Amino acid sequence: MESYWQKTASLPQFPRAEGELHTDVLVIGGGLAGLLTAFMLQQKGVRVTVAEKGRIFSGESGKTTAKITYQHGLVYHRIAKRLSVEAAKQYLEANRAAFEAYKELCAEMDCDYAVKDNFVYTVDDPVALEKEMTVLQKMGFSARFCQSLALPIPTAGAVCFPDQAQFHPVKFIADIARRLDIREHTFVRAMEGKTAVTDNGKIYADKVVVASHFPFINNHGAFFLKLYQHRSYVLALKNAQNVGGMYVDDSKKGLSFRNQGDLLLLGGGDHRTGKKGGNWNELLQFAQTHYPAAAEQCRWAAQDCMSLDEMPYIGRYAKRTPHLYVASGFNKWGVTGSMTAAMILKDLVLDQKNEYATLFSPARSMLTPQLFLNGLESVVGLLTPTVKRCPHLGCALHWNNAERSWDCSCHGSRFSENGKLLDNPANGNLKE
Ligand SMILES: Cc1cc2nc3c(=O)[nH]c(=O)nc-3n(C[C@H](O)[C@H](O)[C@H](O)COP(=O)(O)OP(=O)(O)OC[C@H]3O[C@@H](n4cnc5c(N)ncnc54)[C@H](O)[C@@H]3O)c2cc1C
Repeated sequence: MESYWQKTASLPQFPRAEGELHTDVLVIGGGLAGLLTAFMLQQKGVRVTVAEKGRIFSGESGKTTAKITYQHGLVYHRIAKRLSVEAAKQYLEANRAAFEAYKELCAEMDCDYAVKDNFVYTVDDPVALEKEMTVLQKMGFSARFCQSLALPIPTAGAVCFPDQAQFHPVKFIADIARRLDIREHTFVRAMEGKTAVTDNGKIYADKVVVASHFPFINNHGAFFLKLYQHRSYVLALKNAQNVGGMYVDDSKKGLSFRNQGDLLLLGGGDHRTGKKGGNWNELLQFAQTHYPAAAEQCRWAAQDCMSLDEMPYIGRYAKRTPHLYVASGFNKWGVTGSMTAAMILKDLVLDQKNEYATLFSPARSMLTPQLFLNGLESVVGLLTPTVKRCPHLGCALHWNNAERSWDCSCHGSRFSENGKLLDNPANGNLKE
């Protein structure tokens, strides 16, 4: 199902990689993370090739709600509690630098870039808002507390970051992609050291960045334990409401609002992939109650990789793979997250220091309650007796009636009714 972005802008097409190809840096994945990393490296004179299994932006980046902000939920007080106020400040600075990089790039192109205030609200948790404001103050960042919002539901208030932005991600990436060496319809099935094995040949590289959304190499990095996927639904509504800014509930199951032209983009219905959730029905009910005159123009769904500690994994894929890098686990904030990743990976690939590399390193501690939950979900998935099983690691697949797909609750791979791969980490179709 195409998103509003995919329906309203087109992307340049690129050839398939055939036979043997040599490059300095291979980037696997033509989403925001991969394309921005390739772009940053190319700006430094590096020979980079991007391998994309389908068309670029056919993954999650083409289905985002495209808010560019360094306010990633009420994340700052949670980072401060788990690590320190200094770490929270570093997270903000890294993402603010990414925001500024977007601002600079978007100034040169026609991509519907618009400055908007961003609001993170809670329906019933004023304490979380207070804690967030306190930590932001300690960090020296002046956020605004707002008691009443332009939303049709009662809230406990919101923390507002002024002057954030929204854009049209497909228009943006079309401009970036034209400047890059991209090979579409080039599915990397396996890695042999630094060599990528595709359906039509091999790509030899000195360094490889895995930006495939969920990292698909299982024998290093333990990403199958460090990540799970969470699905979200979006409705584009006409005759709904101009909410002015960009809004999101801090709760994982809450709603998201922003306008695009005369449309309201209403997001929500979230659930762990492979589990039951509200999906579009929840959004339609909300629209019927609060916007009875609204008419649906478009709908889509997507999912993102959730890390163990609300921060993405950016850096070396694993200790034993010095030539391999990764960017994943954006926790539904991968627009800025991808730019942050591109800026960090550019330095690491060029053997330069980056002040944020340690904070985002995939080698950081995994000991969190979410690790236990991910492990439990995998054990249940492996032991559930059913015929349809995921080719990734063998977990049971569950039927998703809203989207007519077979979904894995362990790691989030998805397949069409006919067994065609829709979402990784599985690296091929279902076998009959
Ligand atoms: C509904 C929704 C709304 C969101 N809204 C926002 C928002 O407003 N702001 C924000 O900051 N973030 C948002 N996000 C998060 C953000 O969209 C994602 O984090 C980001 O797009 C992920 O980018 P990516 O490059 O990692 O993945 P993708 O865009 O999925 O790119 C990965 C690419 O790799 C390719 N690939 C996979 N395996 C292989 C292989 N083996 N060989 C070759 N190619 C391969 C895929 O085809 C795909 O094109 C949202 C997420 C969702 C689900």
